[in-house]
Amino acid sequence: MAGLIIALMLTGGEALEDLAARRASRELDQLLNRAPAFAGRIDPATGEVQRIPVGEVSVGDELLVRSSEILPVDGVLVSDHAMIDESSVTGEPLPVSHVAGSALLSGTVNGTASFTMRAQKVAADSNYASIVRLVEEAVESRAPMVRLADRYAVPFTIVALLIAGFAWFLSGDPVRFAEVLVVATPCPLLIATPVAFMGGMSSAAKLNVILKDGGVLEVLARIRSAAFDKTGTLTQGKADVVRVHEATRSAVETLRLAAAAEQHSVHVFAEPIVQAARQQQLELPAVANAEEVATNGVQATFADGGVVRVGKPAFVEEVTGPVARPALEAGETAVYVSVGDELAGIIILSDPVRENANTTISRLRRAGVAEIAMVTGDVEPTALSVANAVGIQTVHAETTPQSKVEIVQAMQPRPVLMVGDGINDAPVLAAADVGIAMAGRGATVASESAAAVITSNDIARVADVAFVSRRTVHIALQSIWLGIIISVGLMIVAAFGYLPAVAGALLQEVVDLVAILSALRALRAHKSVTHQSDTIQARRPAPSP
Ligand code: ADP
Ligand code: MG
Repeated sequence: MAGLIIALMLTGGEALEDLAARRASRELDQLLNRAPAFAGRIDPATGEVQRIPVGEVSVGDELLVRSSEILPVDGVLVSDHAMIDESSVTGEPLPVSHVAGSALLSGTVNGTASFTMRAQKVAADSNYASIVRLVEEAVESRAPMVRLADRYAVPFTIVALLIAGFAWFLSGDPVRFAEVLVVATPCPLLIATPVAFMGGMSSAAKLNVILKDGGVLEVLARIRSAAFDKTGTLTQGKADVVRVHEATRSAVETLRLAAAAEQHSVHVFAEPIVQAARQQQLELPAVANAEEVATNGVQATFADGGVVRVGKPAFVEEVTGPVARPALEAGETAVYVSVGDELAGIIILSDPVRENANTTISRLRRAGVAEIAMVTGDVEPTALSVANAVGIQTVHAETTPQSKVEIVQAMQPRPVLMVGDGINDAPVLAAADVGIAMAGRGATVASESAAAVITSNDIARVADVAFVSRRTVHIALQSIWLGIIISVGLMIVAAFGYLPAVAGALLQEVVDLVAILSALRALRAHKSVTHQSDTIQARRPAPSP
């Protein structure tokens, strides 16, 4: 009878396990189900709108996006105006107003008016597709989660056998041996961790942080050092052109040349420069080819043969020779523009520090992160002023993608976290123990190589996800111990002959249930975090409505 009940309970337990896992991954599934499936292509010849699968959209297609439709691919707005709800991708709760020419991300939702856009990427390369791909990878790689409990398995088995052996020895009754082993359930060891970790991943997803596998939670819960990229990570990356220093070309001509080259760049400074040129309605010269030189800038060759470089002083000085550097105010960065072997001019951008970068750093320190450094490709004066504003003492300026890797790998104590956004951060994000990519303006190669991706362009999520990780690991361990303690208690009761095998078989399932329910608390891990950041923000004056 007890044997039958155990068999029944095992199958029941498996069903329960499935249910728990499904409940925990629901958040991830929701993301997959929202993926846009169709697009409305406007036939260039007839002007008719055809409904085609998103996979068939090609670059350059004009697409009609109707009211409340999900944008199928990344592109630019052709119509004069559009209101778009970007909350699913960037976390920004209010609809964002766009004008003709501005960049649109797939996966965002149109407001009430329909508009026309031009596809700039095919679906597979678009923002939403890359987020979905990240999630799919995350769901597939569940293996590392179980390890947390592995170290308990052998001692637990030995303790169970010892108690059962003693019971048999003392009572002289082999049935007593069976009665003890019936309540020695391994389920808390096997399932508490995966359930808690799926819950933790789901919690993180609710905060717009996508973890590529559960193992990330385990490492993130223990991080002791952190390195931050500057531009686009500690700073908003929503830079604005404030003025242009003229050298051999006028301010307008400098901006025009730079914007033509920057159209081909994904650097955070590319968009504001292009935008500034658009606002002055400059006609951009045709570019024959352009190349992004990571951490240096972009070089473009025009149809007429002219070569323009836009980027760091050292990059431009390679062709122009030494140039004078303008004085900058706090929060300003200079982008140098050369044409041929002459300095055309210098574009000054304001790239303000993110509002909550400072609190994020101090929350990490409070969470036990002992060493925090900045590794930036930018020049030292700008780097120091940002480091000062956010409370970072260790600064590595003018780093290359390679030296970023070396610096982060040498950081102590371990494990080390790296937070970055740009192409130049891709190698270091992969090399750190945990890499977190900021992908608020769309996923790039940085998000591909990082272990976690923040899709909401909010740096506070770095500290939030560290807290979620700690809470998740804490819940997993609690659930394991809860199961072990109840199980050992029942074994002792059974050893004295107070627990018949049938009752034991039923009770061991109750132990499993308790462990699973306890582990499911990780689904709410993000709640405690939001609360924490709320109390921190509450100390600052409330923003005006
Ligand atoms: P970080 O490592 O802090 O993210 P980056 O290396 O991305 O910094 O950028 C630092 C500097 O590099 C910028 O201040 C800018 O001068 C220059 N830079 C690099 N790429 C570009 C580009 N495509 N357009 C303009 N400036 C660039
Ligand atoms: Mg950067």
